[in-house]
Amino acid sequence: MTGNDAELMALQQAAKTRHEIEAAITSMFAAEDEGLRAALETAKQAGLPQIQISPIQGKFLQLLATMCNAHKILEIGALAGYSGIWLARALPPGGRLITLELNPDHANVVQHSFLVFIDADKPPYPQYLDWALRLTRPGSIIVADNCIRSGKAFGPAENADIAGIIELNKRIASDPHLVSLVLAMDDDYTDGFAVAVVKHQ
Ligand code: MG
Repeated sequence: MTGNDAELMALQQAAKTRHEIEAAITSMFAAEDEGLRAALETAKQAGLPQIQISPIQGKFLQLLATMCNAHKILEIGALAGYSGIWLARALPPGGRLITLELNPDHANVVQHSFLVFIDADKPPYPQYLDWALRLTRPGSIIVADNCIRSGKAFGPAENADIAGIIELNKRIASDPHLVSLVLAMDDDYTDGFAVAVVKHQ
């Protein structure tokens, strides 16, 4: 066996281990029930792109919403409603999930949102962040999906999608009012959420 073969085997083993870990975490902490599976099936039959968040990401959104005691959640980019189901289940009785598909006129409804989830088209990510910053207050959490993109989010802006993501990451990383981090937690740890918490001054 050559050195390259050994290296390849080690890489394959590491990938296998990552998949096993992900499957174990999913089944223990983030198993999909009938409602979530039905939403996926409906989306598939409607021919929507299969780009929804993973179950682990859905559960992580629930964790964040619970941590910041979110009574209102704003979701920008709903796709088939899969992430909306995860988010809505974190709300207390009387809580509200507000879903926006590119309509800034609705933004005044959500003055006191505590969690904003951005998972829409990528070029306007910085503008969505602007809205989110206007709508949130200390203790609120802003989450944006697809902020790693196989590492392209840290390289040169090769297209408008990546440019939008790079700009959002730069801004949340340097904004003195936020504590933020990008977490590799999807697509075999090559993509994931940017998470920013609005600081108490
Ligand atoms: Mg996404």
